[in-house]
Amino acid sequence: MGSGQVSNADQNPAGTEPGAPGPGAGLAAYGLPARITVAGLGVSGISAARALAGLGATVTVVDNGDGDAHRARAAELAELGIEVRLGRLADGYHAGEVLPDGTELVVTSPGWQPDSPLFKAAAEAGVDVVGDVEVAWRLRGLGGRKPAEWLAITGTNGKTTTTQMLASILRAAGLRTAAVGNIGTPIIDVVLGEQEYDVLAVELSSYQLHWAPSLRAHSGAVLNLAPDHLDWHGSMEAYAADKGRIYEGNTVACVYNAADPQTEKLVENADVVEGCRAIGFTLGAPGPSMLGVVDGILVDRAFVENRQKNAQELAEVADVNPPAPHNIANALAAAALARAFGVEPRAVRDGLRDFRPDAHRISHVAEVGGVTYIDDSKATNTHAAEASLAAYDPIVWIAGGLAKGATFDELVQRSAKRLRAAVLIGADRALIRDALARHAPDVPVVDLDRTDTEAMLAAVREAARLAEPGDTVLLAPACASMDMFANYNKRGDAFADAVRELGAEQSA
Ligand code: ADP
Repeated sequence: MGSGQVSNADQNPAGTEPGAPGPGAGLAAYGLPARITVAGLGVSGISAARALAGLGATVTVVDNGDGDAHRARAAELAELGIEVRLGRLADGYHAGEVLPDGTELVVTSPGWQPDSPLFKAAAEAGVDVVGDVEVAWRLRGLGGRKPAEWLAITGTNGKTTTTQMLASILRAAGLRTAAVGNIGTPIIDVVLGEQEYDVLAVELSSYQLHWAPSLRAHSGAVLNLAPDHLDWHGSMEAYAADKGRIYEGNTVACVYNAADPQTEKLVENADVVEGCRAIGFTLGAPGPSMLGVVDGILVDRAFVENRQKNAQELAEVADVNPPAPHNIANALAAAALARAFGVEPRAVRDGLRDFRPDAHRISHVAEVGGVTYIDDSKATNTHAAEASLAAYDPIVWIAGGLAKGATFDELVQRSAKRLRAAVLIGADRALIRDALARHAPDVPVVDLDRTDTEAMLAAVREAARLAEPGDTVLLAPACASMDMFANYNKRGDAFADAVRELGAEQSA
């Protein structure tokens, strides 16, 4: 880990009264110009446009879409004096391809491809492109209020869970906090809202980090790194580099996963404030400057006096919901950030006990005929599915959907010994079937060639037929859901409905 200077962009503008003459002129105190183009008319774009216009900027929103929903949103923004350009323009270009005249800054929605023509035009005109997180960061402390500290979390999997765990711990410590960023209320609205906060638990996607160059969190964590979104980032290196930005300018702790050397490497390469520490988390016994697990207890050997000799008990593994290995890792990362912020051990325990995961993340659905049914529909990539497969044994695995370019050999190789059987659904199920044939030829496989609304019920019935008492039927698809369902929530709901139907049949 290098020690470096904090750039000027980190100079907190709190206390600087905006108020220079001219519309939008006060924004300059926050590093924001007066004429801003917002790319994308989605949730974060609307939030950015409203906020910036409300602060006096001249805002134009551009979006290639032109449907009814877009027009309705455009009409609402027009009432606030915001120009919205939709669909195809008179010159044949799409609105999202052309940089409006006079633009001094582009604020993009996270999903826009980095090679979008608009960004190329901005680069040619010498105009910066940033995201809503960057805008929120620059505006924190607006009007002289004391800005909340940011504890930031990224990773390929576990971001939402860990961020919510962290917010729960911070709340248990009596701090005014919220889980924000890639979850819930748009971050600009939180930063500018009435409610004041001591500290924010901030979930950041790789896209958001890419577009947040001056973000300098109090402490940051990268939970894990596996190939994902490579079409957007261009390469694994570029994806990792964007994730690693979370450590830039950290002041107290850079939290990394000791089981994932790539995350530690990102810490080594980060330019942080002098004195900032690298803090590892591990499912094993922790060394000095780490958090880990000893005899079923989560322990801290980082934020204690004399860490060569001492360790502090934080919580029991049983306090983590659910106590699956990957989720204990999430809890340790959340605890590390909380401890870096000075939270007492008891609040870590209470916060973890209070925490309930969002739906479709290893949710216990029911027990039918001695078989446990678990819904991890949110396991939409192989890395996530591998984590949940590691938590049960033996398993009847329901998997499949849209593979998004993934391969399944490693996942199947590592999980084969836990599999009682597999039931495959969805468009790319042949990829999983072939991997099973290669690496787990003895595992019975049912290949369900149907995509109708009853397909999940059929899958659950097949799984029930293959399972023996004491087994777990696990929906961990390792794939996206959109070939058969509107989203992963609907897929998980279909699974839970099917299990309930099965239960009703068996008890009838
Ligand atoms: P994200 O916000 O990064 O998508 P979530 O907390 O919503 O992460 O969890 C998504 C899925 O990833 C979960 O359903 C679970 O299967 C898996 N998961 C959660 N934490 C981890 C982890 N630390 N390592 C691997 N997989 C995980």
